[in-house]
Amino acid sequence: MLSYRHGYHAGNYADVLKHAILLQVLKAMHKKDKAFVYVDTHAGAGAYSLEDEFAQKTGEYLDGVAKLWDKTDLPLALKDYVAAVKTFNAEQDELSLYPGSPAFVDSELRPQDRMVLHELHGTDHELLSDYFAKDRQVKVIKGDGLAGLIAAVPPLERRGVVLIDPSFEIKTDYQDVADAIIKAHKRFSTGVFMLWYPVVDREQTEAMLSKLKNSGITKQLRLEQGIKTDSNEFGMTAAGLWIINPPWQLDELAKDSLDYLAKTLGGIDGHVTVKWEVGE
Ligand code: SAM
Repeated sequence: MLSYRHGYHAGNYADVLKHAILLQVLKAMHKKDKAFVYVDTHAGAGAYSLEDEFAQKTGEYLDGVAKLWDKTDLPLALKDYVAAVKTFNAEQDELSLYPGSPAFVDSELRPQDRMVLHELHGTDHELLSDYFAKDRQVKVIKGDGLAGLIAAVPPLERRGVVLIDPSFEIKTDYQDVADAIIKAHKRFSTGVFMLWYPVVDREQTEAMLSKLKNSGITKQLRLEQGIKTDSNEFGMTAAGLWIINPPWQLDELAKDSLDYLAKTLGGIDGHVTVKWEVGE
């Protein structure tokens, strides 16, 4: 039984980093005309109202996207990110809706590209299906995203971006995620794989990341923002992205953004990391 609903967390500091970097990865894919596929293993509902009971209950977006809304000195990746959220809210002219990863990607999809989205939760799957009901470039699948990932690669296009953004509700998720990425990479070694990870229990997270690091896969980049000192008692203390085959210069773009986020969203115990864990 799944209980996680992304509506509680939409637009929080972890979403800011994830979606800002996702946008830059997609923009890099545009450098070639050749089509690409975007695969989202854990897609969520597609888009969220920040005025509904979920977002209002936690108010997490207030310490995330809302803090960047009026800034005029944003580095490129964050500037593009806030512009995308503003476009999404163009009708309201204020921050009341938040795009999930599928909606961000939708704004970057060219006629030749396509999206494959997986969601297991019944309600969120229905919302996601409704959101893309008439969109022929988008396939929405109700099922396990890790199994779906293996089925989706290698794509016919031979170019692709995969976002693996689990809710990590089951302890075995950490192990299963690493295994699935290694298997998918064997079939599609040129794909860009972006894994989002939380730090709730540092040891558990690092066990998953070490598995990837020691898998023999090259070009693995860690981007992380911590807002508290690691502790197993206070829920999520940091969140990050582990990217295999990041586009050229993504590390530099990310560094500018993370340094900015450390000042604006990071707590006093905050830290940021941009590190090539495995090189070429
Ligand atoms: N990627 C989304 C975004 O950035 O807007 C957020 C996704 S949220 C962190 C994780 C989602 O995974 C939840 O909606 C949850 O219902 C879904 N989920 C959990 N287990 C799943 C599984 N095995 N396969 C597919 N989706 C799953």
